This record gives sequence, structure tokens and C-alpha cells, in this order.
Amino acid sequence: MADILNVKVNEFMAKVIAKNPGESEFHQAVKEVVESLMPFIDANPKYKEAKILERMAEPERVIMFRVAWVDDNGEIQINRGYRIQMSSAIGPYKGGLRLHPTVNLGILKFLAFEQVLKNSLTTLPMGGAKGGSDFDPKGKSDNEIMRFCQAFMTELSKHIGADTDVPAGDIGTGGREIGYMFGQYKKLRNEFVGVLTGKALEWGGSLIRPEATGYGSVYFAQEMLATRGDSLKGKVCTVSGSGNVAQYTVEKLIQLGAKAVTLSDSSGYIYDPAGIDTEKLAWVMELKNIRRGRISEYADKFGCEFVPGKTPWGVKCDCAFPSATQNEVNEDDAKELIKNGCFVVSEGANMPSTPDAIEVYLKAKILYGPGKAANAGGVATSGLEMTQNSMRLPWTREEVDARLHQIMISIHQTCVKYGTEKDGFINYVKGANIGGFIKVADAMIAQGVV
Ligand code: NDP
Repeated sequence: MADILNVKVNEFMAKVIAKNPGESEFHQAVKEVVESLMPFIDANPKYKEAKILERMAEPERVIMFRVAWVDDNGEIQINRGYRIQMSSAIGPYKGGLRLHPTVNLGILKFLAFEQVLKNSLTTLPMGGAKGGSDFDPKGKSDNEIMRFCQAFMTELSKHIGADTDVPAGDIGTGGREIGYMFGQYKKLRNEFVGVLTGKALEWGGSLIRPEATGYGSVYFAQEMLATRGDSLKGKVCTVSGSGNVAQYTVEKLIQLGAKAVTLSDSSGYIYDPAGIDTEKLAWVMELKNIRRGRISEYADKFGCEFVPGKTPWGVKCDCAFPSATQNEVNEDDAKELIKNGCFVVSEGANMPSTPDAIEVYLKAKILYGPGKAANAGGVATSGLEMTQNSMRLPWTREEVDARLHQIMISIHQTCVKYGTEKDGFINYVKGANIGGFIKVADAMIAQGVV
């Protein structure tokens, strides 16, 4: 049986690879999903007959465009902009905008594909999309960022809208960039609508949205631990990244009595065995969000170790929170984590673990929360921002946080429902993929061949 299913997965993947050459991250994301779904689809032929998987692996629309802008030296710069509108089966397209020099079509298609299942898991009515540009915000002046964002939005505005497609932040796109993009959209369209999420509070943003992805990933870890009668109290935690997700992961870990000992950026990681406390975290936020400096400065400031060019997975910990970027935990890292006693991995980033690393986690039967479940709190709270925009009423911090917490509990329950294996082990990969798939697939069948 397993052999027949493997053949089916390979046949499916051969077509995806032939149709989307060179898009390795997209192939990786589709394969992971198809592997967990194939037995389920085999047992439920209606999905096979309707060719749901084949349709889901083909974006509804891909938009690629030139972004030309002028830098501070008066030189013309040309970047490429993208929006992948993957699925609108259960709601308007929704997903972040990534600004990073590594951005390409394959990376954005992987992110958009994952987003479809993630958004479905949140219980909210949101389709899936992703976009961005190969623009590098690092080292750019504020005016350059603004001119880029305006040029980017000038084209993007033709393809999005509050009931069509609502982008949000991602790597390189924080509150500042969302502000410049929103301003340009409003100027071009002459309408003040909830076309972007991650807005500032004064002009339509939601409380807790900046915190949501990191908080959600920690809430998810809390739920996973509770299945073993355990909690985060006193746990030593490694965190990668030092951007939005990493910062609020550390904040929630501190609140729940855990000890976060690492942070990183693309130049290396810091290891602070005493733990990153509230004051140190406030300093990191100022460093990263205002001064836009490097994490190595933390080691100088607080007298701890900085390890250049490395990820923090060799540091002994109970729980790991990969919160930087895709494929940042490889097979050796996963083995090292487990050898050192780590038994919880909750992914704040999207697809941070390679397929081989995931195999190591599943074989060791640790508590492994894949990104599309564990980091869904960000987009869920974006969904709550859309609701508040539609009502033109802001909710309190407590109300949004309570809803976020409840959504993470509900995502966890869905994973348990579809991912619990015969021996009681919860395979969260399987649970998230099947749980996210069913709603989208049923909506596609109901809406006909479109
Ligand atoms: P930020 O831009 O705020 O921070 C990204 C962090 O990751 C920085 O510390 C950055 O270091 C590091 N990083 C980025 N690319 C690389 C790389 N190629 N190698 C090593 N380090 C890298 O982004 P976010 O915190 O918003 O996003 C982090 C992850 O979480 C991404 O995978 C994103 O898709 C995912 N995510 C984010 C959500 C959100 O709400 N923001 C929602 C769901 C998922 P440096 O500054 O040196 O580049």
C-alpha cells in the first residue's frame, strides 16, 4: 500500500517539477503536503475525481512586474515585483509581502501554497497569496524605502482590494513599509479601506498584530506540551532570527516563565546563557526596529558569546523556535537538537526545517509544530484586523489576544483530530495538511470547475 502511494506521489511530483522548473522550494512545499494527503485522498475519491490537488498546485493567477525607482544618488534602480494569487476558494486572497534579495518566483509560490492551507486552518474566511520583491531594504535610506514602496504599490494596486486581495508584512516588510504602501494605495484609488494589514493603530491597525505570529507560535508550543502534561515554565529555549517573529516569541516566552537564550540574524547568533530578559529584549527591539543594527552588538553590550556565520541549533535546549527563514534547520541540526535533549520544535518561520530534518523529528516522535500551524497566529490576527476594518470598530488588546489564543487552541485541536496515529503520537504535519485541505477542497467542489 505504502509503495503504491509512493508511486502516486512521485508521479504527481514529476508533473509539478516539469511544469515549474527550477522552483525547488515550491517543489519541496508541495511534496510535503502531497505525501501527507495521498492516503487521505485515496480513501476519499471525490477529491481525486475533482483533481483538487492538481488544481491547488496551480496558482489562480501570477502577477510579475517591473518596479523602477530612483535612489538617493539619482540613479535608476530596477527590481522585480510579484503577487501570487494562489487560491480564493474560501475568501479573498491573503498573505504577506517579502522584501529580500533572495526573493524569486519559486520561493513566493511555496509561501503562497503554504498560505492556502494555513489560512484555512485559522477558521477564518481567507484565501491564500504571497508577494514581494527582490528589493533589499538593508542599508537603504527612509526616502529610498518610501520611493520603492510607492513604485511597487503603483502596479500592485491594480490587482488588490479589500474584498479581492489583502497583503500583509513578511521578511523586510514591517510597519514602516506597510505605511508607505498604504499611503500610495490611498492616493491612487482615493479610498480608505482595509487593503493591507499590519497597519499602525491610528489608521486602521489592530492591537496585537505585531505580536501575533510570535505569541501564536508560543501558544502552539504550550498546547503541544500540554498533551504531555508539561508546560513552558522553566524551559530553556533557542530562538533564531531577531525580527518581528523572533522578538515577540521571546516576549511571550519570558511572560510564561521560559528562558530564551539565543537570537540570530543573517550574520550569526548570540548565546546568552543567563537568558534574554525584558530589558535586554527592549534593547534588541530598539536595535533591530529603530537603529537597524546587527545582532552581534548584543554580545558586546551584554557580554556574551556571538558565533558568526552559524545558526543556534547546537545550543542545548528543551524547545526550539526557528523564526528566521526557510530551510534554516537541516538534518544535522535536527539530530544535534535531539541529541541535546530538545523535544519541542515550534516553527515561527515558514518551512524553516528541511524535509530531512522533519524526518528526524518525526522519527524521534518529538512535539513538532510545522509553520503552517504554529505560525498561523499572524495571519489569523490579520483576519481579525480585516474584521475590525469592516466594522470600523477597534477591539481591545485583551479581546484580540483572547481570540488569537483561542484560534491557536483550535488549530491545535484540528491537528490532533487529523494527525493522531495509532500509537497515540500526534503527527502535526499530517494533521495540519489534512485539516487545512478539507475546507478548501470542499469549497472548490461546491464552486465547480473554475
Ligand atoms: P523580519 O524581516 O522581521 O526578520 C527576519 C529575521 O530573519 C531577521 O533577523 C533576518 O536577519 C533573518 N533572516 C532573514 N533571511 C535570512 C536568511 N536568508 N538567512 C539568515 N537569516 C535570515 O521577518 P519576520 O520576523 O516577519 O519573518 C520571519 C519568518 O517568519 C519568515 O519565514 C516569515 O515568512 C515568517 N512569518 C512571518 C509572519 C509575520 O507576521 N511577520 C507570519 C508568518 C510567518 P537579517 O536582518 O540579517 O536579514
